[in-house]
This record gives sequence, C-alpha cells and structure tokens, in this order.
Amino acid sequence: MSHALHFHYDFIPSEILDPATRELRIAHMKSAGVETVWLDTYAYGNVLASREETLAAKKLLESHGFCVQALTVPVGHGGGALNGGAGDPGIPAHWQGRINAQGQVVPFTSCVRCEAMIKESRDVAEELADMGFTQLFYDDDLRVGPWGPALQGCCCGACMQAFYAKYPRYAHLTAPEIFANATEGDDLWCAWSDVQCDAILQFIEKTVPAGMTPGIMVMHNGDRRHGVDIARIKAAFPQLLVRVGEAHFEDASFTQAQAEQAITNSIQTHLSLVGNIRDAFSESTVYPENALSPENLVQKLRLEIRAGLRNLYLMSGFFFLAEPYWQAIAAARPELEELAQSATTDQSAKDFIWQI
Ligand SMILES: [Zn+2]
Repeated sequence: MSHALHFHYDFIPSEILDPATRELRIAHMKSAGVETVWLDTYAYGNVLASREETLAAKKLLESHGFCVQALTVPVGHGGGALNGGAGDPGIPAHWQGRINAQGQVVPFTSCVRCEAMIKESRDVAEELADMGFTQLFYDDDLRVGPWGPALQGCCCGACMQAFYAKYPRYAHLTAPEIFANATEGDDLWCAWSDVQCDAILQFIEKTVPAGMTPGIMVMHNGDRRHGVDIARIKAAFPQLLVRVGEAHFEDASFTQAQAEQAITNSIQTHLSLVGNIRDAFSESTVYPENALSPENLVQKLRLEIRAGLRNLYLMSGFFFLAEPYWQAIAAARPELEELAQSATTDQSAKDFIWQI
C-alpha cells in the first residue's frame, strides 16, 4: 500500500536528444520527481520520431533511471491541440474524417472506424511493442466529439450503417433527426451512444498488441455521449490506465469561481469508474504554452491530490515546460508529498486509497 506520489511527463523524443539542453532537462525532471516519461511518437497519422530517435531517447532516459513508456495521438483532435491551431498536423488525405450531423467534415479528426487509421495505428503500436514499450497511452482524445453536454458521434456512411445494423428500429431516422430527437438517457440517445462506444472499444481491441497495456486520456466530463464508456473498456481491459479529465489548462479558466469544484467532480466521476488510484492519472496540463502559471499548476496538483489522485501527469503540448515550472514543482514537492500522505478531504478519496 502506498500513498506516494508518482510524477509523469510526456514529450516527443527530439525534446530530449539535443546535447545543448538534454542534461538540464533531465535535471529539471529529476528535481521535480518525474519518474516516468511517456514518449510521443505519432499523431494524427504523422510520425513524430523515427525508430532510431525513439530508441535513443528511451535509452538515454533509462540510463538516468526513468521508466519510459509510449504515447500516441491516433485519432486527432477537433480543435487542434498540439501546437495549437495552424501549427497542428492534419490527418492524412486517405483517412475518413469524422462527419458531424450536418454532413460536414470535422477538421483534424478521423472517424474512429476508419480502417486505414486503425491499420496504421496498429502498425505503430506493434513497432512500439517491438521496441520494448509495454504501456501505451492514447491521447487527445480518443472520443467522437468535443467537450460539452451534447450527444456526439460520427455520421459517415460506415458509422450510420453500424448504427442501423445494431438498432434497425431507428433505420428510418436520418442523422439530423437522430440528434434532433434524442434526449439524454432515452432509448434513442442510449442506442446512438452505444454504437459510438462500440467504435472506441473496437479501436482499442484492434490496435493494442497482446501484452501491451492500453491507456486512454479522457477529457473533462467525458462519458458515453462522447463515445467513452470507461467501465465497458475496463471490462475488456482490466489493466486499463485512465488519465482523468480536468481541462482548465490556462489561468483564465482555472481561476473561475467554480473551476476547482468542476475539476474535482470530473476527477472523482472518472476515478469511481476506474475503481483504484493505481491506474488513474491526472491531467496536469499547461496549454497553450505558459498559459497556466507555475503557481496555478502547483495549486492544481494540490487539488488533484485532495481529489484522490497519486499519479500526477504533466503535459505541455509539443513544447518542453520552462524552468519556472520545474522550480515551482521542486519547491512544492515536500508539501505535496505530505499532502499525499495525510490529506484525503472526503470519504470517496479515502475509499480509493485503501484499494491499493
Ligand atoms: Zn464514421
């Protein structure tokens, strides 16, 4: 049983291979207590690092005592989320883009059923397994629509066919009619979201090699309406790793009056579905670059610990966190460790801790 904190961080391999900066970056991560690095090698159909670069980064980090695992961004992100907007790679032309209810393509985002995307994601995962990676997080985000309470999903031909085949009683409804008539929790809403959740689960089943543990990053309040059924995926993959949804990556949203409660609610909803804190990870993201101050990042870490998390997962798009962030985390580390050992501010967090 352990209440200790575990810090994680991800970046693309080139960020740690430059001789001019790598020793300082390693020192920063060490000072902050980072133990596991997740190397991001692939996003939206774009290879971000060669096999040689990936292996060189892995070897370097392991020589400094880091555990090194893998992360990819297989499906894409409707808003662009790596460098932000125009700096993000698009999806390959031969992929089926996600189609919204109005029949429009959602930029930067693949249909989760796209066979070419699935095959290429599988090939990448198999190569990562061949390189010795045993855990693979799928990021940002493995879902079928953006944040919010609205029902989401892909309305391309294959997805509509899958829906009508499983629920022929709704075969008379067009995509716009489905979205116009479905009410949260009713039969149509559940049927539509069920088929979206099928697609996400099937994607994981088809792409994760045997022996590799999958992880999913779930957005703030992500659930079945976005195609994400954590309980169902966990039933198929009992070792599933889950990065809970928190959002609030920049000062303007993090400092809103209701932000801390909203983040806590999402953390604990997802944590309850994961069922233990060993396999749950925070969303301690700074995005866009420098948008969340070091002080507010530390405050977010406190919040995450109080909500019951012990795997604190730092993230910062394609850029490496600047020195003030590492200094702030290193300075706060004793306080955060103490909080992790002693603080469980509500009963639900205590209950999770006792499950390890
Ligand atoms: Zn589709």
